[in-house]
Amino acid sequence: MLYLINITGFFMRKLTILGATGSIGESTLKVIEHNPYEFSIVALVAGTNVGKMRQLCQQWRPKYAVMACKNAALQLRNQLQELKLPTQVLAGQEAIVHVASFDEVDTVMSAIVGAVGLIPTMAAIKAGKRVLLANKEALVMSGQLFMDAVKESGAELMPVDSEHNAIFQCLPESIQTNLGNCDLSRHGIQHIVLTGSGGPFRYSDIDELSNVTPEQALAHPNWCMGPKISVDSASMMNKGLEYIEARWLFNANREQLKVLIHPQSVIHSMVQYKDGSLLAQMGNPDMATPISYTLAYPERVFTGVSSIDFTQVGQLTFLEPDYKKYPCLKLAIDACYEGQHATTALNAANEVAVESFLAHQLKFTDIAAVNERVASHICGKTRQSDCHSLESVIELDRMARALAVETIKECTS
Ligand code: NDP
Repeated sequence: MLYLINITGFFMRKLTILGATGSIGESTLKVIEHNPYEFSIVALVAGTNVGKMRQLCQQWRPKYAVMACKNAALQLRNQLQELKLPTQVLAGQEAIVHVASFDEVDTVMSAIVGAVGLIPTMAAIKAGKRVLLANKEALVMSGQLFMDAVKESGAELMPVDSEHNAIFQCLPESIQTNLGNCDLSRHGIQHIVLTGSGGPFRYSDIDELSNVTPEQALAHPNWCMGPKISVDSASMMNKGLEYIEARWLFNANREQLKVLIHPQSVIHSMVQYKDGSLLAQMGNPDMATPISYTLAYPERVFTGVSSIDFTQVGQLTFLEPDYKKYPCLKLAIDACYEGQHATTALNAANEVAVESFLAHQLKFTDIAAVNERVASHICGKTRQSDCHSLESVIELDRMARALAVETIKECTS
């Protein structure tokens, strides 16, 4: 691999961005815009959004642009030819895997939404890249396989999710460089506190939730994110997925993981040490901060994010999560200790149910009902040991999706 040294004498990182047209992709490019001598873009990847990808190619002139959809790739190729841009346009999953793992890049931002992000992320891990992990589903579906692959390949795994990134920042370097295999108690850590805002319905009565609309669920009070994660934040399934991720990233057990509602989203998560110290990472809710940390680690770079003005913050408040109001959170925590088959089934059911809710076909409260039915059905028929390979995880994901579609039909008929 060819290493470039920038004018400040640092090694210049060369990136593939998976999910370049999404919310995380946009924040990543914002950080790079502020630091053009530190990072360069080799490949951009998206699903179907030709217009946005064309704009990105005009601005960033990547060597490769990859669209998951073949038709979208064809349109993009024609448009870039008209603009006389030299970017090579590729299509399909094989091409995505190629640009996630080839020698020309050293760093891969994993920000494709959903289970489809698993295979390219795993390819980047197996190729030993620095992987900036925003996609949650990879760890939720294949936690053990994923962490084993990190260990085997020597890939550098950097958590992007603001909570895991906050925890990472509060941990000693010996844990940061040994994710997945660390021993928290040996490092004096009593527990990790995952904070969550509680989403747009944190002050709503439970009875009101069955009638909430997708538009209301998408209106997150603190963060600006893609539609899937916004709905998951409203149901707190997002916190459940993060709980499962944290279990794998930090090798934490039930006693070492706690969830706390913190409506202001000023504290992004905390680590409690046995000497009484509680380390927290704080900042304005902007994904550019955690993204920049994973890009530049162990250095820090400018992001344009303003610092907190504590005189304007007012109160910081905290609440225990109410599992009756947030049944998806409880389902995810239970699935976490049931095993990989349960987390894969739950994640698949949730993706299908959220899509259906966003299409105004399913009630908000039925998301949890569908998730519960699919997860318990799959757990009754399979075991943890059935998820022994990536192929078996993907097959289980497929089964759970089919069952979720059937369950939604029953719920809505
Ligand atoms: P968005 O919906 O905004 O973006 C999703 C991205 O994935 C788009 O670039 C989309 O392309 C691409 N994509 C969708 N399907 C495919 C496919 N089959 N193949 C290739 N690319 C595809 O999502 P977010 O950016 O909000 O989230 C991305 C991931 O990061 C999620 O897993 C989320 O949970 C996680 N995350 C997000 C955070 C946030 O603040 N947004 C915070 C922490 C984690 P196209 O536009 O063409 O459809």
